Amino acid sequence: MSDRPLTEREHEILSFLLTAPGIPDVDILRQQAAVATGVGCECGCATVGLNVDPSAAPQASPDIRRDLVETTTDDIARVHRAQPLRFFGDDGETVDPQRTPTARDLDGYIGLILWTTGDGWLDSIEMQLVGNFERPATFPPTEVFAAPAVSGEPRAWNPYTDDP
Ligand SMILES: [Zn+2]
Repeated sequence: MSDRPLTEREHEILSFLLTAPGIPDVDILRQQAAVATGVGCECGCATVGLNVDPSAAPQASPDIRRDLVETTTDDIARVHRAQPLRFFGDDGETVDPQRTPTARDLDGYIGLILWTTGDGWLDSIEMQLVGNFERPATFPPTEVFAAPAVSGEPRAWNPYTDDP
């Protein structure tokens, strides 16, 4: 997978995540976001790696936690209305395009994590989910998610600043 410009939705999600209160060096991270390019996930889902040309934006503090910002939604019905999900059939493995989602199908969550590299650069937007549906190829729109928040402790291991 090679670098490509971020999609409009990716830009929206990135800007949205960077609205979380209390992000250190947020102005620098916004400058990085403005010039970031993306690398799509090999599985075809919406998770996207971020690359920032170090000559195009300043470096943030290496002390910024890696798992920087999170948001989630557990309103899968709302996600499905905003951007149709593909639910699995009764075998739980094969997408059934005709399926009318059951209450159980709509029981799940989708979370987003904005990661930094551990040495001051944006790293990726990771999508996590639990539910009876295929991993979406596009991030759901920002309005389905809760207000983003700086991640709580404990922080993820940082290969740059933590001992092995
Ligand atoms: Zn993926």
